Amino acid sequence: MRKYFVDKNGRYGSFGGQYIPELLMRPMQELEAAFKDILKDKKFQKNFNFILKTYAGRPTPLTEVKRFVQAIGGKARVFLKREDLLHTGAHKINNALGQCLLARETGKKRIVAETGAGQHGVATATACAYLGLDCVVYMGSIDMKRQAPNVLKMKLLGAKVVGVYTGSKTLKDAINEAFRDYAENYESTHYCLGSALGPHPYPEMVRFFQSMIGEETKKQSLKLFEKNPDAIIACVGGGSNAIGIFSPFIEAKKVRLIGVEAGGRSDKIGEHAARFHGGNPGVLHGCHSYLLQDENGQVAPTHSVSAGLDYPSVGPLHAKLFEQGRAVYSSVKDEEAVEALKLLSSTEGIIPALESSHAVAYLMKEIKNFKKNDCIVVNLSGRGDKDLPQLFENNLLNGGGKE
Ligand SMILES: *Cc1c(COP(=O)(O)O)cnc(C)c1O
Repeated sequence: MRKYFVDKNGRYGSFGGQYIPELLMRPMQELEAAFKDILKDKKFQKNFNFILKTYAGRPTPLTEVKRFVQAIGGKARVFLKREDLLHTGAHKINNALGQCLLARETGKKRIVAETGAGQHGVATATACAYLGLDCVVYMGSIDMKRQAPNVLKMKLLGAKVVGVYTGSKTLKDAINEAFRDYAENYESTHYCLGSALGPHPYPEMVRFFQSMIGEETKKQSLKLFEKNPDAIIACVGGGSNAIGIFSPFIEAKKVRLIGVEAGGRSDKIGEHAARFHGGNPGVLHGCHSYLLQDENGQVAPTHSVSAGLDYPSVGPLHAKLFEQGRAVYSSVKDEEAVEALKLLSSTEGIIPALESSHAVAYLMKEIKNFKKNDCIVVNLSGRGDKDLPQLFENNLLNGGGKE
């Protein structure tokens, strides 16, 4: 069941790999060995599952949304996988707990992490508080200003937040700083990377720590509608929530796997984060995958209304699934995601994160192409409370819902 997807060279076909400086070779080898150990370690997995159940709130339910489907004029049955109900409000806690537990088992007492909007930083700070580990979070100085409440949360949770003032002063630069710290301190420190990307073994390890989403979905589907889902839809930033729900179904060829990227404001480079539409294969943060680049091959700037989807590259297993045609990748625009957020809120009483709203928006656009007996699962990766101040400030909630 718990299958290893990566080959012995750390690759998924031509994607993935370890494009790293000498200084990181040793830490990556040790991390890979530690990860392989826990794959066989029943005690670790039992402990991890116990924490997920008693602390994080797993398993999460599968909720059918009939009123929403009626509102969009659909015939199919639609179910949401409710990762929004987890502690800290999104799927990121799964991976943070898994990696921090692995770090503690291997004798590391200090965790470093990067964060963009602050979601992964908060999840990691939470896991560290719970497991009794020191936590340092690198965050671009621009993001620290934009996401002041999350900086406060991380501090409350006992983490040290270090501002990054280099480059574009955002997520990409925070990842560079976290790798630098890790290379210097790896004997005492683990780098808890927040999505299914970066050098091997991170993409495989993060996929593993998110794969319970798909495993639960598989069991719950059999119970609720007596078959595998006909389609699974998930938003794709770095790709961890999507690969978590996809991976147990990759070999079940009849299950359509659909990833939804951030279409942003327009198709122009710099105005979106749709790597599979505007990007080409290239290397970023130690990993060969699809990458948004300018005409000189430099990493292009990106835009999305949702911070979690705003990254120029994407996890390497998604690149392989894309080239194989096993999964398809579409994109929706900022305003379509906002409309989806409003409609799901007012018809079902569930306020989705802007990231997850991209998956919901795709369904709104494509529902006509699904048949009456189709059962569709949408991964609701997180809740939208975090997004309301931004939506309010930018006046994006006007005209939505019902007065
Ligand atoms: C961070 C985040 C994402 C995007 O990250 P993935 O690694 O692509 O899953 C999606 N949804 C929510 C709620 C997030 O916080």
